[in-house]
Amino acid sequence: MQQPYRTHKAEVLKSLDTDRQTGLTQTVAEARQTEYGPNQMQRGEQTPAWKMLLKTFTEPLVIILFVAAGLALLNAGYDFFNTGDVEHGRAAIYEAVAIIALILLNAGIAFFQARSTQKSLEALESMTERTANVMRDQDWEEVPAAQLVPGDIICVNTGDFIEADVRFLSVSELQVNEAHLTGEAEPINKQTHALDEDVPLGDRTNMGYSGSMVTHGNAIAVVTGTGMDTELGHIATLLDQVPDQRTPIERAVARLTKVLMRIAISLVFFTLAVELIKTYVENGGISFDAFINSLSPSIAIAVAAIPDALPVVLSIVLTIGAATLAKNRGLVKTLNSVETLGATNFIASDKTGTLTKNQMTVTRFYANGATFSVEGSGYAPAGDISPVDDNDTPDYTGFVRSAVLNNEASVHQDEQGHYVPYGNPTDVSLTVLGHKAEFDRDQLQNNGYEIIRVLPFDSTRKLMSVVIHSEDGYQVLTKGAPDVVLRVTDNVLDHDQFVPLAEKKDEIEAKILEFAEQALRTLAVTCRTIDEDLAQNGSMEELEQQLTLLGIAGIIDPPRPEVKQSVATLRHAGIAVIMITGDHAATAKAIALRLGIIQDNDAEVIDGPMLDQMSDAQLRDHVLTTRVYARVSPEHKQRIVQALQAHKAVVAMTGDGINDAPALRAADIGIAMGINGTAVTKDAADLILLDDKFTTITNSVEAGRTIFGNIRNFMRQELITNVAEVLTLLFGAIFILSDIGKVPSTAPILSALMVLWVNMISDSLPSFALGYDKPEADLMQQPPRDVHESILKGMVGRIALRGIVMAAVVFASFLWAANAGYTLPMAQTVAFLTLVFGQLWHAFDARSNKTIFHRNPFDNGRLLLAVGFAATSSILVTMIPFFNTVMGTAPLPPICYLYVIFFPAIPTFVISGIKALWLRSKGAA
Ligand code: ATP
Repeated sequence: MQQPYRTHKAEVLKSLDTDRQTGLTQTVAEARQTEYGPNQMQRGEQTPAWKMLLKTFTEPLVIILFVAAGLALLNAGYDFFNTGDVEHGRAAIYEAVAIIALILLNAGIAFFQARSTQKSLEALESMTERTANVMRDQDWEEVPAAQLVPGDIICVNTGDFIEADVRFLSVSELQVNEAHLTGEAEPINKQTHALDEDVPLGDRTNMGYSGSMVTHGNAIAVVTGTGMDTELGHIATLLDQVPDQRTPIERAVARLTKVLMRIAISLVFFTLAVELIKTYVENGGISFDAFINSLSPSIAIAVAAIPDALPVVLSIVLTIGAATLAKNRGLVKTLNSVETLGATNFIASDKTGTLTKNQMTVTRFYANGATFSVEGSGYAPAGDISPVDDNDTPDYTGFVRSAVLNNEASVHQDEQGHYVPYGNPTDVSLTVLGHKAEFDRDQLQNNGYEIIRVLPFDSTRKLMSVVIHSEDGYQVLTKGAPDVVLRVTDNVLDHDQFVPLAEKKDEIEAKILEFAEQALRTLAVTCRTIDEDLAQNGSMEELEQQLTLLGIAGIIDPPRPEVKQSVATLRHAGIAVIMITGDHAATAKAIALRLGIIQDNDAEVIDGPMLDQMSDAQLRDHVLTTRVYARVSPEHKQRIVQALQAHKAVVAMTGDGINDAPALRAADIGIAMGINGTAVTKDAADLILLDDKFTTITNSVEAGRTIFGNIRNFMRQELITNVAEVLTLLFGAIFILSDIGKVPSTAPILSALMVLWVNMISDSLPSFALGYDKPEADLMQQPPRDVHESILKGMVGRIALRGIVMAAVVFASFLWAANAGYTLPMAQTVAFLTLVFGQLWHAFDARSNKTIFHRNPFDNGRLLLAVGFAATSSILVTMIPFFNTVMGTAPLPPICYLYVIFFPAIPTFVISGIKALWLRSKGAA
């Protein structure tokens, strides 16, 4: 067959052995899937596992540990071959082996973590899998886009991506954006006729290409190419692995560890120098032997200064965060969003469907010069229509008939007898009104009303029209936002008379305002008689003018009951909710008042035309205080986002239509609706609401804050340990100038392996549990954090103070033990356990921004387990001979265990107590 665009559609169908009416059978589709493969781009080579593993060894922290292991080996070699101190040499070997084991363990955890993060992200990705509407076995069904095969009949609508290369079979006002292939930003009009010459891709107007967006209209098409055999596949360079997906916190931590590494290196040299000076002063010279001995404290310091577990715990906690959000029906696409969500200070939300139920019902209408009220609820065709004024009962059927014909929705009764709506909810409400007045579109079509053209609704134009043909000739029926419609209306039908609009304008505008102030969505219905030529060939602009107003519908869309509470919660959390709607300003204001988005009737509402008049600078002046934007088009949303961002605000913005995509991309958190959103908005969004509910945004923000708070808590815990370890060792190097009892002056207060143990076991496990913690009670009463501030903001003082106090306590314990005549391993063990228990007590303090007394210590089961395990295992390693040899620990007298368990609790409780008193004096406790 020659190129499908040069071939008649019937020929194309024949050559693909398919049928426009029935589609492929499931069996044939499966066979073709085996033959042609899945409809997806081939991924680039994944980085091989061994490369990922090797990469973990190039981390700066790991390099320092390697150096420490190397120094320990040097020490061991010297002992074995020079001094013959086999015991000391063996200890040094254990040290080196343990450090290397730790490096391997760390690499292993980091490696598996990277793989499982990758997997979780892939799982999240698959939840947002693209789908296509395809005809199989004579039925339309939604299948994953990857399952499309050549010959499939698909249908596409505004907001869909075209998921394969296709030849159009029928189109309705179809426009497609193919910028990704042609660079042409303007949408292209599509048609179905065969072209009679070879033309470049951008001119093949009867073809659609994989990855293009349907910006207008709809179509039915046959798939001609899939996967790599599409135009996109031909030009696509293989999709490589996503490059740097680290979040800002992860990058901040990477920067921090680099700084710590520099500090570690300086401290290693510093302690080495101090030890050498001490040796020199004591012995009057420095032998090689003395040099080797001085290495021990330096190795310990190198290990102490590094928060080994921090990066790993961090990425685990972020990944878990993303999974928790998904459980709460909020799907984030990257880990970045988890973090940004917590810093959000403005949430700009669509009204319909997010803040309201999107269950629209016409409760009033104005037609033929009189007002009517409509009874009934839901989608059942039952409900009286009665005039508000019994003496004024003109015929309203022209209005209702037009509203029903100019309409793409339908309502069907299912097997249980429930009425189920299909299509645009505004149109559904008019269909139901039609049923109450005994008009049905299908019946009208069977009774001589033929719909020959449809100009679908779009929220920029805010209009929808159909061209119909009946025994009365050709007519265009237009409906839409009243203010837009009135601009192209000439006459009004009033008690069966055509009256010029100018005469009735005030009355009609008053009616629109009256409906809007009752929180009703308003919609004008019009008609116009036209000739055949205009009917067949007229452009949208030519058709939608000189209209006659038949009536105005007032449609209620009740607010979602739970939103009011969410808005209040957000207000307490310092987060402002902004309503952005295509509806009338008065409707928007009435709903905003009911939801608590604004508190008083005089609150400023900016509408689309006002926005058009405003410069960016003027908008910036209003944007921080305005809470309601009405009659906006999607293009305005981007301006609102940018104006807020100019004030350094972090903005989350919802959107559902295709034109919302640029605003979603511009927002810090673009939010798409999982149920009613278009594929294009889901693609542009960072957060997808699986249930389309506003409360899911609130929950996601809360989860984002919780995760960020937990990250800060465990960072604080980890860093305090590092500061305490380093200072303890430094205190030893600087202040112990001569031997104390059995303890030599050059020995470190903690052996390198003890430091490793603290970092890996007694510190990391509780830190990890802190990453899972529940939110603090007042989490949503705090203002949002400033994203531009350092992650360590407000923590440096606390880390320094507690680190210093803890080091002092450990140092004091060591001195006490040395003075009591304990051996070096015993004194080191006292210091080791004091540090371990100091950290374990502090883990409970780290849970709160305030003090240890602010949280119930028993409500984090994981933390209790982690602390229990760390406490028991740390005591056991001092009692079991094997560990005594490996780690340099020694059993202590029983009373001493009591001392090391409880003494280090004192600083935590004293500091917390002082802080609690101080907070109380400030009235904040
Ligand atoms: P929100 O932001 O509250 O979700 P929206 O921006 O989606 O609302 P639109 O759906 O664009 O609002 O509707 C804007 C106006 O367009 C409505 O107030 C109504 O007057 C009109 N309108 C809505 N749906 C239709 C339709 N199917 N046909 C004609 N006019 C419509």
